[in-house]
Amino acid sequence: MKKLLAMLLALAMILSQAACGGSGSSAETQSEPTEAPVETEPEVEPEAEPEEEPETEPEAEAAGYTTVEEGKLIMSTNAAFPPYEMVADGEGVYNGFEGIDVEIAVALADKLGLELVIDDMDFDSALVAVQNGKSDMVLAGLTYKEERDKVMDFSTSYATGQQVVIVPDGSDIETMDDLANDKMIGVQRGTTGEMYAADTPENGGYGEDHVLAYDNGALAVQAMLNGQVDAVIIDNGPAQEYVKSNAGLHLLEGDWVLENYCLAVDEGNTGLLEALNSALEEMIADGTVQAIIDKYIAAE
Ligand code: GLN
Repeated sequence: MKKLLAMLLALAMILSQAACGGSGSSAETQSEPTEAPVETEPEVEPEAEPEEEPETEPEAEAAGYTTVEEGKLIMSTNAAFPPYEMVADGEGVYNGFEGIDVEIAVALADKLGLELVIDDMDFDSALVAVQNGKSDMVLAGLTYKEERDKVMDFSTSYATGQQVVIVPDGSDIETMDDLANDKMIGVQRGTTGEMYAADTPENGGYGEDHVLAYDNGALAVQAMLNGQVDAVIIDNGPAQEYVKSNAGLHLLEGDWVLENYCLAVDEGNTGLLEALNSALEEMIADGTVQAIIDKYIAAE
């Protein structure tokens, strides 16, 4: 019995690791059979190698990666996602920002010997920025999703989240099923909350006609307080913060499956991902990540 439990645990660990870190390679293996056969690749590669790079950036070459701006690590994020990233009242932890992801980024940049630059924008833009070479990584309470993995490469997961439902006190929405009664749901644009809510009822969603997407979670909550939407679906981290800081709101019982938060780099930016991943994995192993999480989220 014990043996079986140990085996199951080991399997679960492998699966959860694969949920983020191993995903890059699984996407590659998926595309190979349908697209070009493997043999064509080696012929193209030697010619495609440009010659100028080693002269211009010797240090980065030695590190096995380059960044958008030499010596800098640009993080695109949406700093309206407490407690992961938010604009601080004062100086904050770093350049007026604070939060779990901000502190992780500070430590990552430090380990890589790079200067952290935090670029604050809407969440959906933060994902585009990394894909367009405007940022080096997106670190934004970003959930691993297979469809995202096709356009970005994901790190090992450093935290988990869940989508939950916030409603005003006195609402006639008492369970998640009540959301199907012709209610309007506010979400943050481009998030998994939007994906789940806007999905078809057959897939457990409520249909896109019942969803209004806002630039960030705070605006979605504001819209609910103004009576423009009946509920907000958002990650549990910010949901707890919004309920704490606004009177008259509460969370519904029940939630969607556990999500893995990862950072992501542009698809194929393997050198940088490896450097970030080994720094992140060190920080997970030595308890740094957990200490940062505990600082912002009271340990249960
Ligand atoms: N975890 C959610 C997602 O990845 C929301 C992230 C966010 O709003 N910053 O879609």
